[in-house]
Amino acid sequence: MANLHGYAGRILYVDLGAETAHEEPIDGELAEAFLGGSGLAAALIARTRLSEIDPLGPENPLVLMTGPLVGTEMPSAGRLSLCALSPLTGIWGESNTGGFLGPELRFSGYDGIVVTGRASEPVWLSIVDGNVELRDAESLMGLDTYETQEAIRQELGDDKTRVGCIGRAGEHLVRYAAVMNDHGRAAGRTGMGTVMGAKHLKAIAVRGRETVPIADLQGFARITAAVREHSREEIATQAIRMAGTAGYVDMATMYGDLPFRHFRTGEWDGADRLSGVRMTEEYLLRGRACHRCPIACGRETRAPVYGLDRVDGPEYETLGALGSLLAIDDLEAVIAAGHLCNRHGLDTISTGVTIALACELAERGILNRATADGLTLRFGDAVLLHGLIEKIAVREGIGDLLADGSAALADHFGVPELAATVKRLEMPMHDPRAFGGMAVTYALSPRGACHMQGDMYSVDTGQVALEELGIAPGDRFDASEGKGRIAARQMAWRSLYNAMILCQFQNPPAERIAEALGAATGWDLAPADLMTIGHRILTLKRTINAHRGVDASSDALPPTFLSPLEAGGTLGNVPDVDRLLAGAYGELGWNPRTGQPENPTLARLGLGRAAEPE
Ligand code: SF4
Repeated sequence: MANLHGYAGRILYVDLGAETAHEEPIDGELAEAFLGGSGLAAALIARTRLSEIDPLGPENPLVLMTGPLVGTEMPSAGRLSLCALSPLTGIWGESNTGGFLGPELRFSGYDGIVVTGRASEPVWLSIVDGNVELRDAESLMGLDTYETQEAIRQELGDDKTRVGCIGRAGEHLVRYAAVMNDHGRAAGRTGMGTVMGAKHLKAIAVRGRETVPIADLQGFARITAAVREHSREEIATQAIRMAGTAGYVDMATMYGDLPFRHFRTGEWDGADRLSGVRMTEEYLLRGRACHRCPIACGRETRAPVYGLDRVDGPEYETLGALGSLLAIDDLEAVIAAGHLCNRHGLDTISTGVTIALACELAERGILNRATADGLTLRFGDAVLLHGLIEKIAVREGIGDLLADGSAALADHFGVPELAATVKRLEMPMHDPRAFGGMAVTYALSPRGACHMQGDMYSVDTGQVALEELGIAPGDRFDASEGKGRIAARQMAWRSLYNAMILCQFQNPPAERIAEALGAATGWDLAPADLMTIGHRILTLKRTINAHRGVDASSDALPPTFLSPLEAGGTLGNVPDVDRLLAGAYGELGWNPRTGQPENPTLARLGLGRAAEPE
């Protein structure tokens, strides 16, 4: 498409059932309103008959979408969103991944791909220099995600090919299967790998040589240099560069943010053995970066006891979900468990939280050894953890029950109140009792319990501050309506990030982001305009979820998080969810009684048409 700067200008549509592919020009107005990533994907998915879609059915559209800065010189903007209705939650699903897959998709000439239908036999999708081909994936079935990436690179004879693929978990329709790329990078949450598995789509490979058209090349170079400089100087990014996200373990423990034993206890003496410092000193081989990222939070580690010379990760969420949450302090065992999840293509958060629930059910005498294939389910057992991951990946024995996630497991035993989920998505490793604003994020996030839709722990620890947009650090236990409003603004801001798509560890001033976007696209944007875009996207996702049955009654935290912890860094705090949400609904212009966006809000955001399914 002519004159649409910042975009390749084309979206590829693939119908696996009909074995056809065609491309359509990107709609400039839609791009300006929703940018890209999960924003533009939501605008496309909102056009479908949302209430009639089975997330595991061929009609569920899987949208892979880049953003206007992806594949450019903008630091830390090399990401790719994958969106569909989630087989785990039944509502809006999204996940984004780093590495080089997103940029390479743009270099191949496309801003995004929309995949519909279901192939009659397993296939993989090859997109090389604009040539689109569906290839037989029979020989790839059963391979793990590392083997699959390598096999495809060999078949294409090009080791620069970027591959997003599923492992055994996706093939077996584990409901929280991930899509893996660039070795161990993951689009982990909400089962986008499951959607690929249901479509019999084993992998997508991309390679290309095009560049992204930039409206103001000189201005863009100046701004991106300033962002790079900012990231070099900022203490938060320096800390991530040194210790990876694992460096947060110590601080998280101090605040009570890192959960222990399925979120049940506030103290545990094993956390220091999972620290980023220890990982750096004893197991780190090197840091790894995504496309054009000066931060390089990725870790390449080893676990010699398990015969692993070189593996990816783990990052903070994995250390929590497969470590502290299960009371496992053997760092090498946690590294190995994270690698197992990567190989099979499993979301580490949902895997760990679901296994932790199973351990709690066993402790309570609800889940017995016979149901658990003769295994004694208990906290602190790394051998058990490794065995359960293997079982989940192929739905073997007790693994079949665990493969449907925590909410389904709790339902199965008639104890739904014990699931640590919001809207059926497992809680990440940030306790809302440690940072009250996270209660808003978890309750209102469009994909369920999600820390990537409004990281109030970053705000209240001072790592993110956008005073000009009304996002200022404050008392972490503050449960006022004002705090709810700040959390809602941070959600809108991160909705913008997830559309651009910019890594959330890259936090230059809002003005720089507006300038970068303006220089890339030629649009005249101020920070307040960016907030409006984020608000629009967040509200559109809410309307999508309304078609899937979400209302104010769905905006609740599980009882676990409304019980104080007697010891530890949460200091017995419990968030006042009602008061916080009152502020957040008010800020977003959503009706506090129904939870739905008010008509004036929809009109102000220009969502009248976009919010109506065709
Ligand atoms: S900070 Fe980490 S996840 Fe973010 S872009 Fe850089 S390497 Fe990738």
